[in-house]
Amino acid sequence: MTFVPPESPSRRFAPAAEERTRRSLRIFSLLLAVVLLLVVLMVLVIAQRQNRDATDQDRQRLLQAWEARQETMLTDVRDYAFWGEAWRNLHLTLNTRWAWDEENLGPDLYNEYHYEGVFVVDSAGRTRYAVINGKLTDLPLEAWLGAQSASLLRDARRLQHAALAQNAVIARQPALVVAAPISMGKAARLAEPPGAPSVLVFVNLFTPAKLEVLGKMLDVWALRGAAQADAPQPASLTLGAAGGEAVTLRWQPKMPGTGLLMLLLPILAAVALVTGWITRRVSRHALHHALLSDRRFAMLTLSQQELANSEARFRDLAEAASDWIWETDEQGRLIYLSSRFHRLTGHAIADWMGEHIDRLLTHPSHSLVAWLMRQESNGSSAPLRCQFMSAQGERRIGHLVAKTIWQEGRRAGFRGTVSDITQSMEAEARIQFLSRHDALTGLANRIQLQEYLTRHLELPQPLAILSLDLDQFRPLNDNWGHAAGEQVLNQLAQRLQRGVGAHELAARLGDDEFVLVLQESDAGEIARRCARLLQEVQLPIYTGQQAHYLTASVGIACAPQDASHPEALLRMADIALNEARAAGRNRWVWYASNMASQREHKREMVQRLEQALRNDEFCLHYQPRYQLQSGRLAGAEALIRWQPSDGETIAPDRFIPLAEENGLIVAISDWVLARACRDASGWGADRYVSVNISPVEFRTHDLVQRVAHALESSGLPATRLELEITENVTFDHPQQALEVMQALRALGVRLTVDDFGTGYAALGYLKTFPFNGLKIDRSWIKDFPESQQAASVVAGIIALAHAFALTITAEGIETEAQLDQLKRLSCEEGQGYFLGRPVPLAVFTALLETTSQQVRA
Ligand code: C2E
Ligand code: MG
Ligand code: MG
Repeated sequence: MTFVPPESPSRRFAPAAEERTRRSLRIFSLLLAVVLLLVVLMVLVIAQRQNRDATDQDRQRLLQAWEARQETMLTDVRDYAFWGEAWRNLHLTLNTRWAWDEENLGPDLYNEYHYEGVFVVDSAGRTRYAVINGKLTDLPLEAWLGAQSASLLRDARRLQHAALAQNAVIARQPALVVAAPISMGKAARLAEPPGAPSVLVFVNLFTPAKLEVLGKMLDVWALRGAAQADAPQPASLTLGAAGGEAVTLRWQPKMPGTGLLMLLLPILAAVALVTGWITRRVSRHALHHALLSDRRFAMLTLSQQELANSEARFRDLAEAASDWIWETDEQGRLIYLSSRFHRLTGHAIADWMGEHIDRLLTHPSHSLVAWLMRQESNGSSAPLRCQFMSAQGERRIGHLVAKTIWQEGRRAGFRGTVSDITQSMEAEARIQFLSRHDALTGLANRIQLQEYLTRHLELPQPLAILSLDLDQFRPLNDNWGHAAGEQVLNQLAQRLQRGVGAHELAARLGDDEFVLVLQESDAGEIARRCARLLQEVQLPIYTGQQAHYLTASVGIACAPQDASHPEALLRMADIALNEARAAGRNRWVWYASNMASQREHKREMVQRLEQALRNDEFCLHYQPRYQLQSGRLAGAEALIRWQPSDGETIAPDRFIPLAEENGLIVAISDWVLARACRDASGWGADRYVSVNISPVEFRTHDLVQRVAHALESSGLPATRLELEITENVTFDHPQQALEVMQALRALGVRLTVDDFGTGYAALGYLKTFPFNGLKIDRSWIKDFPESQQAASVVAGIIALAHAFALTITAEGIETEAQLDQLKRLSCEEGQGYFLGRPVPLAVFTALLETTSQQVRA
């Protein structure tokens, strides 16, 4: 079988889609974050660039303005320096009146042209004329320009009709300084005096007010001058100054980029938040769907696997089943047959495809398709027993189970199984037969007998119940074995079966117990049929070459006279059978009502016996046994007596057979053995006690242990114990009895055959079993010596005993004549009323005393 059981969904569930979605979502979120970051970076870069560009533009405008001013100043200084009047009034001589008073180089330069300083420095480097902030002063140029003034003057003096400009820091304020050598200008025809020219210097201070105005004009915010020592800042313009401190202008940058940032960043943050929120929603949604899809996928995988398993299971089952599976269309034509069909029926599957199912399976009364249709309309689907022919032509019985196939509410066909139940039907029939018949003989068994009796007694119908039992079956079984026993029973059963009519019954209840039920009411006819039956039984039965001769005992009970209930009738027939056995066997006995009361009486006796054992109601009497030739008291036979507390003493003949029947004999014997051994141990060294042992006690080995135990407990030597075993009963298990006897002999116990001459196999007994002696039954002694026949039998037995070297004892010696005659015949020992009756222990002990005194006397 290849069936693989489905794995549990939890173990099989591999969340692939969920994993994938998670990964994709992570990447997507990361990308989104990177894009956002890039946008932010770009915005930052743009903002920074805008900031820088704005500052650069400011710087550029400032520089242009600065340079424009410089140009203006250069033009101004040139205008004044290359002027013949100036040359004359400022260089050749300093004409303050011309310069200041006539306002050629007066306060206008400050007021109109915003020159804070106007200096004229002569060739010797002395400041000869100085107007500062529109006021005439004598402050030298160095006071404003410091060391820078020297280089300025030097460079200026080298120029020819040109001017120079320098940046400077004056009183911590940025300044533009222009200088030009004062030349004669258009009055050049005048002779140039020797020596260096004087230099005209204009200084334009960029005061905070001026810078503010300039800033406003140029749209540069909070423009100011800065010291060189200040930390460098992006919004600054540094202008080099030859030989002096560089000029630095600072202003407040406009930072349009920062504004842009201020505007964009919150928007970006909001976009990021919204994007994050949407991403999260989408992620959760996608994950949920992925999870669902995974589950669906897992379920799908599982159901696919289930389907595959189910198919495999179906295939395997179809292969392995003892049934075959079929399917038809709606008209009952076969469209599928499992492979087992071929194996089980021998038919080729292909031969039956398309054939009508009614051709394959038949039912004595239905068309199968009609049945199938009816099944469904009934709403039930009970199985149907049908028939089919195997390919070998055998008629087989099938068990059909069917279902209608529905497709979209329409009947599409039928399918089902057929199992071949031929064998089980046969087995069932066999079981049925066996349940009502005896397996060995085929006769009816107890169940059928009961049924038969119940059925016929209800009618009511006169019946004769014959309970029949073979008389010698057990020894036959022991001697010839069970196989022979069974053959005998079988042949006998056939004879009995022939002895009953078609409506009568022969039954076997067990072993050799048979019951025949005859539909007969006439006693004469019943008796005749019994006689014929017994004759039939007596005819030899052969097992191989061996012929067996048997007899039977029969008990008869009749309905309705005796009873009309099966149990009661059988019990009565059994009672009558026991009577037949007791009456000597090989006969029939009619049931009589007093038999039942005898039986009841027996049951009572058994209960009383059990009670007697418990209450110690038994005692032993001892009957002396003498050596006939010497007259010596050799020993005594222990004879049990039952003395119920409320009644007369009961003789052993009345209870020993009963005790033997129900097993109580073992307990009784144990008691007798123990008591006899104990009593005898005080009788003197050479006197024995003889105890009667029942043949049934030889069925088990424990007799040896029981005897040994009695000897051991009493201290009586084994040689002083004799066991008497009656001869008139055959042993059930001769081999076992022999083994037990041998073991007893090994103990040292003597064994004697009791009541010799009454049984069936006198000689066989003596040959088979290891006896030490025999006791001639008193029935022979009774007529002895008068009866010639008795005399010759007794003489024969004595001779026989001598031939087997057995000690011989005569029982029941009642007369002197008997004693004398026995002595003459060399009978060794004797007992009887003439010699001494059975007496209680005390009397016997007293007898022993007197005997030993006589011997001593
Ligand atoms: P048995 O073993 O053959 O015993 C002898 C019987 O003959 C005794 O009868 C005895 O009283 C009787 N008897 C002895 N001498 C004479 C005589 O001269 N004339 C007559 N008519 N009878 C005489 P009891 O005691 O009634 O015993 C009957 C049988 O019961 C015994 O026959 C023996 O088979 C059996 N039995 C007695 N005691 C026991 C016992 O303890 N165990 C077993 N298993 N059987 C016992
Ligand atoms: Mg005896
Ligand atoms: Mg006897």
